[in-house]
Amino acid sequence: MSETIFGKIANGEVEADLVYEDAEVVAFRDLNPQAPVHILVIPRKPIPTLSDAEAGDAELLGRLLLTAAKVAEQEGIAEQGYRTVINCRAGGGQTVYHLHVHLLGGRPLQWPPG
Ligand code: AMP
Repeated sequence: MSETIFGKIANGEVEADLVYEDAEVVAFRDLNPQAPVHILVIPRKPIPTLSDAEAGDAELLGRLLLTAAKVAEQEGIAEQGYRTVINCRAGGGQTVYHLHVHLLGGRPLQWPPG
């Protein structure tokens, strides 16, 4: 499997504006933010898409969401509310094939999204 730009961010080969990291998970600011707060939370493990996650990844998937919630607190958007999104494959709008959770907030978010 070829490494993506997010794999390179996770292993430190490519710089990013990191807001959180631990042994399993890295969170950094999106280069092309769609809201005042737009952060990507990724596993260090290179799972290409949500549909490639397996039963053994269940704890890791939970960690991604808990990290998004923690970072939302850190960014001061938890009380007002925020959105988490996982785009899956081309039809879902995914462009980087390393699983990531978008954390968006800091402005009113419309529903449904486009
Ligand atoms: P998706 O379309 O769900 O795959 O989201 C990919 C996101 O990654 C987009 O919002 C891009 O703006 C963002 N992105 C791509 N390259 C980088 C990078 N080097 N650092 C931070 N964000 C990036």
